[in-house]
Parts: sequence; C-alpha cells; structure tokens
Amino acid sequence: MTRIAIYPGSFDPITMGHLDILDRTLRIFDKVIIAVGEHMEKDTLFSVEERLQQIREAVKGKKNVEVAHFEGLMIGYARRRKADVIIRGLRAVSDFEYEFQMALMNRKLDSDIETVFIMTRGKYSYLNSSVVKEVARHNGRITDLVPAAVEKALKEKFRN
Ligand code: ADP
Repeated sequence: MTRIAIYPGSFDPITMGHLDILDRTLRIFDKVIIAVGEHMEKDTLFSVEERLQQIREAVKGKKNVEVAHFEGLMIGYARRRKADVIIRGLRAVSDFEYEFQMALMNRKLDSDIETVFIMTRGKYSYLNSSVVKEVARHNGRITDLVPAAVEKALKEKFRN
C-alpha cells in the first residue's frame, strides 16, 4: 500500500527548512505532494506560478515528489489526492498553538487524514520565509538559507 503525504504551505519562497522537512518526510512515506496554497487574503511576494517553478527546480532529482497547487480548503484537496497524512513542520513553541488549532479543525473536517508534525533541525529553527525576504530586501546574505534559484529570484525582485 502506497502511503501518500501532503505537505501544504505558502512556500513564499521555499527555504532550506522546508526542504529538510521534505527530505525527512520522504524517508517515512512513499510519496510526498508539496501543495502550494492559494490564499486570497495572503499577500505573497511570489505568484503561485513563480513558487511552483522555484519548488520544481529545488526538488529536481528527488524521487517520489510531486509539486502541485490548490485553491480552497486544504483538507478537501488532501482527500481528493487520497493523502493519508498532512505534514507540518514545527520550529518553536510559538508554532504550536496555530498548528494545534489547524490540526484539530482538519480532523473535525476529515477524521481519516492524520496530521503528522516533523520537528525542525536545530540549525533551521530560526528560519522562515518572512525572515529570508526581509534579509534579501536589505541585501543581506541568504546563500545557505534558500536554494540557488530562489536566491536569484529574490535578488531580482529586490533589485532597484
Ligand atoms: P504556512 O503559510 O501554511 O504556514 P509556510 O510555507 O510558512 O506555510 O510553512 C509550511 C510548513 O513548513 C509549516 O508547517 C511550517 O511550520 C513549516 N516550516 C517552515 N519553515 C520551517 C523550518 N525552518 N523548519 C521546519 N519547518 C518549517
């Protein structure tokens, strides 16, 4: 039986922290669908197309990974894709409350799909997409924090 995990997020942009969670998820599940969410209310730096392109580039060569996007309720998409679990990463206690709430709501909406939390690697615990964007905006060094294609895209976005 193939165990499918869905890893949803904004990925605006994808970072080494996300990729680390992906790699460790791949060791546990047979297939991972990275699902880029389209949230009307969320202002993103990169369009969905740009984010999908960056992720595809970043996961090139990795087996059993699919890159996709969804609109509307994530749990509905997870069910349509026959996912067994939802993967979320945890960095600090501050992530916990929101993630706990989401996991319980998703369980209420669909009790067949379990949320699985994977803990960050210590060296990425401070890393998130917003911090990366802020550093890049001010010309700081982000080389080890994001894949090469993302670094290039950020530099282009903020070039003035
Ligand atoms: P969202 O907007 O849904 O929170 P993100 O793209 O910010 O989407 O994050 C997607 C998932 O990846 C979340 O579960 C988040 O906690 C996790 N994540 C992000 N950065 C890291 C990191 N450095 N280490 C571990 N998990 C992370």
